Amino acid sequence: MANGSFLYHFARRCTAGGFRQGLARMDFLNVRTERLYAELKEHGIATGVSNAGILRVFRSKAIAADDLAMMKSMVERGLSQQPGAMMGGSELPQFGPALGTAAQWGFMQNGEAFTNPSVLVDQLIASLRGRGIEALENTVALDVAEDRGGLRVLTADGEVRADKCLLAMGAWSRDLASQLGLRITHVPGKGYSFSVEPP
Ligand SMILES: Cc1cc2nc3c(=O)[nH]c(=O)nc-3n(C[C@H](O)[C@H](O)[C@H](O)COP(=O)(O)OP(=O)(O)OC[C@H]3O[C@@H](n4cnc5c(N)ncnc54)[C@H](O)[C@@H]3O)c2cc1C
Repeated sequence: MANGSFLYHFARRCTAGGFRQGLARMDFLNVRTERLYAELKEHGIATGVSNAGILRVFRSKAIAADDLAMMKSMVERGLSQQPGAMMGGSELPQFGPALGTAAQWGFMQNGEAFTNPSVLVDQLIASLRGRGIEALENTVALDVAEDRGGLRVLTADGEVRADKCLLAMGAWSRDLASQLGLRITHVPGKGYSFSVEPP
């Protein structure tokens, strides 16, 4: 039902103005990403992040040109490095011998970074533990309560006392937030995957 409501509002906001507004908000968040990852690297975290870039390939020259224009607009918005020149004909197979024949046009998206997220999370946890912070794994937070002594995070394995609490449960944050009287419009969804509850 929640996903139905999300889809309804999503469809209503599929307008040029809504797209521009959403993009501006994403840019606000994304523009600091590279710097923040560089800071993590300085602390020995995210050391596996590689910004070797990716090769974007297309069957059609027109679609490749549209994509290149989009990448250039990202550069203007401070989000990406200058993409490589468009390659076609025999240039692509020379550049990437493993490419199939459907890859007719393409270019390098320079600076695009990627990593193994589970290694990144392991490094984050190790860094926290190295600073004396206790990390409880496989521990489900069921509720958060407040009393004079501070916050109490209730888990299936008992209670954890805390001065502050950061709700970072990703797409699952909404349930606990609603228990706390907070309404967040955060629904699991992505271009090619949705989380649904079986009937
Ligand atoms: C199929 C797919 C592909 C993606 N590909 C990319 C990509 O290529 N590049 C990219 O940048 N982003 C990608 N994303 C998006 C990216 O994964 C998310 O934006 C990111 O993981 C969100 O981070 P988060 O910390 O907010 O939430 P999450 O990574 O979802 O972390 C939330 C954590 O909270 C835990 N949790 C939930 N409930 C509780 C509870 N009650 N108690 C305790 N713990 C709880 C969960 O188990 C989870 O470990 C992809 C997402 C999907 C679904």
